[in-house]
Amino acid sequence: MPYSPAALQMLEQLGIPLNAVIERHLQEFVEASLLQWAETGQDNRRHELIAVAAQAWRQLKAAAGAEGVALYLVSAFRSVERQKSIIQRKLDKGQSIEQILAVSAPPFFSEHHTGRAVDIGTPGCTDLEPEFEATPAFRWLTRNAATYGFELSYPPDNGAGYVYEPWHWRHVAS
Ligand SMILES: [Zn+2]
Repeated sequence: MPYSPAALQMLEQLGIPLNAVIERHLQEFVEASLLQWAETGQDNRRHELIAVAAQAWRQLKAAAGAEGVALYLVSAFRSVERQKSIIQRKLDKGQSIEQILAVSAPPFFSEHHTGRAVDIGTPGCTDLEPEFEATPAFRWLTRNAATYGFELSYPPDNGAGYVYEPWHWRHVAS
């Protein structure tokens, strides 16, 4: 079994069948512990990433800004506990496991736990919506993100069964 006892216990607590995770080939992630400030959100929320990703993000953002493309963080590091409360809230609202797993990872399975993943927003575009793909911000990222070590995690028809997430990128360089 490739999953940790803690992850299995969490799935059970939330009533998420192990099969739903196995079918999607979801990867378990280790929660990052050494985090660094990456950006302060509009709501004064502190967004954190691991050091290498935080630095790369700030460089990427500055480079985009210099070319007239404004980017901001919608979400960066997210703890297992926070992911649990997000999923629990959706369950409480009556959403099905299928509905939830199309857009959210179970706790222990979100790339945001690693401190390397970012959800990116740009002015004039609703956060976390497919329309992000049609923005100059996305076009800029497609051309330049790799220079800063970032790549798109969930392209169309990704193996994890998530909807296409043009806003979600991960830092992959060491
Ligand atoms: Zn994301």
